[in-house]
Amino acid sequence: MKKFYFPVLLVSLFALSCQEKVKVDNSEKMGEPDDSVIVHEEYSGSEPTEPEATEYYEPKVPVVKPGENLGNPPSDAIVLFDGKNFDNWVSSKDSTAVKWHLNDDGSMTVNDKTGDIQTKKNFGDMQLHIEWKSPLPIQREGQNRGNSGIFLNGLYEIQVLDQNDNPTYVNGQVGSIYKQGPPLAMASVPTGEWNTYDIIYHAPEFNEDGGKIKSGTVTVIHNGVVIQDHTEIKGTTPYIGWPKNPEHGKGPLKLQDHGDDSRVSYRNIWVREL
Ligand code: MG
Repeated sequence: MKKFYFPVLLVSLFALSCQEKVKVDNSEKMGEPDDSVIVHEEYSGSEPTEPEATEYYEPKVPVVKPGENLGNPPSDAIVLFDGKNFDNWVSSKDSTAVKWHLNDDGSMTVNDKTGDIQTKKNFGDMQLHIEWKSPLPIQREGQNRGNSGIFLNGLYEIQVLDQNDNPTYVNGQVGSIYKQGPPLAMASVPTGEWNTYDIIYHAPEFNEDGGKIKSGTVTVIHNGVVIQDHTEIKGTTPYIGWPKNPEHGKGPLKLQDHGDDSRVSYRNIWVREL
């Protein structure tokens, strides 16, 4: 009898420990203390006794052909910038044509003081791939060294900064949710080389009165290193003041002209809507 019950006991203990872990993770990451036990309704009722009862075939999962090299767009991506033109972008301040530099190597570079640029198309939940490069020669320090940024939904900045041997406030360093959430690690390549950000963004949700009822979240993988792990976005990312939570729907992807000769470059930008 012992031989029969011991594995069952082990499985039960494992299931209980998993349940507890999910509960703790949720409360820590989402800032919503909740000690109620999670019950998965679809797995309640009488336990199936046949393997087929816990297998399903529909809806089918789409087949996607991956990019051939790291970072190249998969078959179902919306390519926002492939180095050929700015067709998918406008100037943020007046929706006129982009005035940034289009380079021969398939990249773009911030044209100082011409303003932020943003996509014509609006996005909500998405997977984003984007590559960026801090300029050589190095100029200045702190927040004035190669500062740019990627604004998800047009509102929430993931910081781009030349952080190499360049300390600054941690909640404003490279890979931070600006002035809110420092990254888990600093994973930049040397100045002048190309960095990759792979970002998974989920937009916040609002009730009919415009109040936020669910925070947005973001995961950022910087050069293959997780630096934001399903982090709660607590609001907008202003330079001065508290994060705000204006009601919004989908919005553009925006790239920052920091206005201090940042010379930051971008390339290979694509999105998969989630
Ligand atoms: Mg910035």
